[in-house]
Amino acid sequence: MGHGWEGVVLKLMRGRDFTFTVTGAEQVTDTFRRVHLTDGGLLAATGGAHPTMRVRVWFEQGGKPHQRGYTLVDPDPEAGTFSLEFALHDGPASNWARGAKAGDTVDATLQGTGFTLPEPRPGRLFVIGDAASLPAVNSLLDAVPETPATVWFETVHASDERLPFRVDPDHHTLHLVPRRDAGAHLVAEVKAALPKLLGADSSDAYVWIACDTSTTRTLAAYVRKELRLPRDRVQALGYWRP
Ligand SMILES: Cc1cc2nc3c(=O)[nH]c(=O)nc-3n(C[C@H](O)[C@H](O)[C@H](O)COP(=O)(O)OP(=O)(O)OC[C@H]3O[C@@H](n4cnc5c(N)ncnc54)[C@H](O)[C@@H]3O)c2cc1C
Repeated sequence: MGHGWEGVVLKLMRGRDFTFTVTGAEQVTDTFRRVHLTDGGLLAATGGAHPTMRVRVWFEQGGKPHQRGYTLVDPDPEAGTFSLEFALHDGPASNWARGAKAGDTVDATLQGTGFTLPEPRPGRLFVIGDAASLPAVNSLLDAVPETPATVWFETVHASDERLPFRVDPDHHTLHLVPRRDAGAHLVAEVKAALPKLLGADSSDAYVWIACDTSTTRTLAAYVRKELRLPRDRVQALGYWRP
């Protein structure tokens, strides 16, 4: 983790621009693509990476730049490389990823990324995400590999069951939940299970939520207000707008 997550966060607050170069790409499923890149000096400038670290990437479409958030996958500060994983739909970022090939370049700004687990460290993780947040979910599980985690993952396509989940059956429980009623089914599943899993003493729990904006807002309000988890034990950020 280089100079530690906090050091990375401080350096990133300034916001900096980099150009990434594609070195290759893999079609992981029909709707999920991994693109390998060199980092244009990003990881040397930040002194490393932190879990869930994201960049704001600029994609051209219709003659205009569009900025979209993407999560670093397997950042390697020594090699100056990482990958980006794209949940594909219709949009400037997805369209760029579909055609990405070695030699292509893309610009990115580093701003506003950051992540710290609360102290004392959580004894249990509860994670709610989908294909867009899978890279962040995986980086979180990688950061604390022995911490028991329950993951609810919203699926849209049949092939989502074959996505590259970094779950270890010894420590992690993965629930695949089909997206229905614009996320309401996921909310219902979490509400049905989470209180029982938290039990009477939730002081060792940490809840991390990144789904579409409205589902994220609903779940974050539920966990904070109804289940009364303290603010520093809940991290929630909407990853995409339906
Ligand atoms: C901090 C952060 C990190 C992120 N990391 C990643 C990442 O690593 N990988 C990743 O794939 N995404 C990630 N996202 C989400 C990504 O930025 C959005 O999905 C973005 O909208 C995609 O841009 P686009 O140009 O492809 O589509 P847009 O032009 O934004 O949207 C086009 C259409 O597609 C729909 N749409 C957009 N995203 C999704 C989606 N995920 N599922 C279904 N429909 C969608 C929109 O509602 C719209 O109708 C992250 C977001 C944040 C905030």
